[in-house]
Amino acid sequence: MTQPVITNAKAAITDGKGHFSIEPITISPPQADEVLIEIHAAGICHTDYDSLNWGKPYILGHEGAGIVSQIGPNVTNVKIGDRVLLNWAIPCGECFQCNSGRTAICEKNSPVTGSMSGHATLQSTLHNGTPIARSFHLGTMATHTLVKQQAVVKINNNIPFSSACLIGCGVMTGFGSVVNAAKVKPGTSVVVLGCGGVGLNAIQAAAISGANTVIAVDIDETKFPIAKKFGATHTLLAAPDDSSLRKCAATVRKICADRGADYCFESTAIPVLGDAPLAFIRNGGTAVQCSGIEQTISFDATLFEWDKIYINPLYGCCQPQVDFPRILALYDQKKLLIDELVTTTYTLDKLPLAFQDLLAGKNAKGVLIIKQEPNPLPQH
Ligand SMILES: [Zn+2]
Ligand SMILES: [Zn+2]
Repeated sequence: MTQPVITNAKAAITDGKGHFSIEPITISPPQADEVLIEIHAAGICHTDYDSLNWGKPYILGHEGAGIVSQIGPNVTNVKIGDRVLLNWAIPCGECFQCNSGRTAICEKNSPVTGSMSGHATLQSTLHNGTPIARSFHLGTMATHTLVKQQAVVKINNNIPFSSACLIGCGVMTGFGSVVNAAKVKPGTSVVVLGCGGVGLNAIQAAAISGANTVIAVDIDETKFPIAKKFGATHTLLAAPDDSSLRKCAATVRKICADRGADYCFESTAIPVLGDAPLAFIRNGGTAVQCSGIEQTISFDATLFEWDKIYINPLYGCCQPQVDFPRILALYDQKKLLIDELVTTTYTLDKLPLAFQDLLAGKNAKGVLIIKQEPNPLPQH
């Protein structure tokens, strides 16, 4: 069966110097183990805004969900018409890191290692006749995208695309940082700094893991009702003069047996708060930076006293084979809230407004609806 070249596709393309526009693209049919996805929904993440300045042209977007519209001859995990979510971590299973169980930082395929191998053929996606890169090898802010079969995860009818698209980034990062990276134990105390998309998922994962005390910290008290809905037992409003959150840390210490919390997750993406989780934890506690802070900051080494652990897991140490079925099952059991994360939806041409709202911290998660659901879905 010959599959047609897609000539009417559109994508949000950045010049890598801070600008973007919606442009026509052409996509060739899938080769070998590639899959062509018609995107229905794409999540909007801080990383997408950052990617406007990555210095080279890109199709934006790394969170997406849609329908399989063409498949390559060797594809075995999905068929045409399947509903899928997209996942940007496709470990090779053979390298040093994969063999050490750290599949999210696969030396061959992880976007953070700078390797371009193991992904869909670059030459198959053209903009003005030239191959164009896709953010995290996905480029979900588009009507279509061509990916490897390992980058798609089948989903059921009960989950709307607008929710499913969030699993392959914010949900995985928050949930995985708690469950896979810190391995939060039942009966413990957890602090989460920042109640955005990643923070809310850290909060609900801590609650699911059986933490007794889950303290949500934010500078915006309008975030607290949703934080409580996601499982926060306490909320703590940071005062405007508490920019390093040390006053909040003193309050948390009192709540946590005058000792400090067992775990603290930083999900604010504010560079100066890179050291803050250390101030919230007890001796021997675990601080987790899951917001992707990469700037140079100074650390007061006494914050590490004593025996504290500081980790910055990528993508919640995602193990696709294990984590996506687990997350989808928890959603089915109504234990993991995802629909509730979607605060505002936008059409693709409203992307400038979506970025504006992102920067203003207006949404738990904003989502682009690229194409409506084919049928009204049953209520979850
Ligand atoms: Zn993201
Ligand atoms: Zn690998």
